[in-house]
Amino acid sequence: GADNFEVRYLLNEACVKQGIPWVYGGVLGTYGLTATILPGETPCLRCLLGPMPPPASVPTCETAGVLGPMVAIIAAIEVTEALKILIERREDLLRSLLMIDVWTGDFERAQTQRPTAGCPVCGEGHYELLEAEGGSVATMLCGRNAVQIRPRPAPVLDLAALGERLAGVGGVEVNEYLLRLATEGKELTIFGDGRAIVKGVGDEAQARALYARYVGS
Ligand SMILES: [Zn+2]
Repeated sequence: GADNFEVRYLLNEACVKQGIPWVYGGVLGTYGLTATILPGETPCLRCLLGPMPPPASVPTCETAGVLGPMVAIIAAIEVTEALKILIERREDLLRSLLMIDVWTGDFERAQTQRPTAGCPVCGEGHYELLEAEGGSVATMLCGRNAVQIRPRPAPVLDLAALGERLAGVGGVEVNEYLLRLATEGKELTIFGDGRAIVKGVGDEAQARALYARYVGS
């Protein structure tokens, strides 16, 4: 699926390279972000969020949850922004990052409306993900109904902290070498270098989706 940082940053690179506007939205817990990205005119996703977070460094919606109404708010704003692009009313676009916490009622708009100087994507035209040989590598392991995921570059995971975050989603066992998570009838064995073996899946896409959901992307 597209609910992971790798796909968002890849989409950003593709849109910046081709000059195609796109509307970013993300929700976690009671909090959401949205930004309309006009390549060359407004900050791109890399300008706004910085380098792509390594796996397991930020909570995912699976570990932190998502409050339903927050999704509706961000989706409504994204659709409205898309309508403005479609009817060519670009002067009415928000042009900056909008941050909303529906629980506390805080709405905040970033002041920055211009691309960040020296942004590797929209400033310098380095399309790291677009030009990569392939992001994380997923390999089906023969006869075991299992897929190995090897993220590149390899992160260093704090397995104990990840274990605490995952405690609510299934059975978790952690030792100094690995973390084992049993959930949704599947088993994920995650190592400190980010490598994981996902058992009980039929294909690589399913394994990648589970990895993104529980470890991050
Ligand atoms: Zn940028």
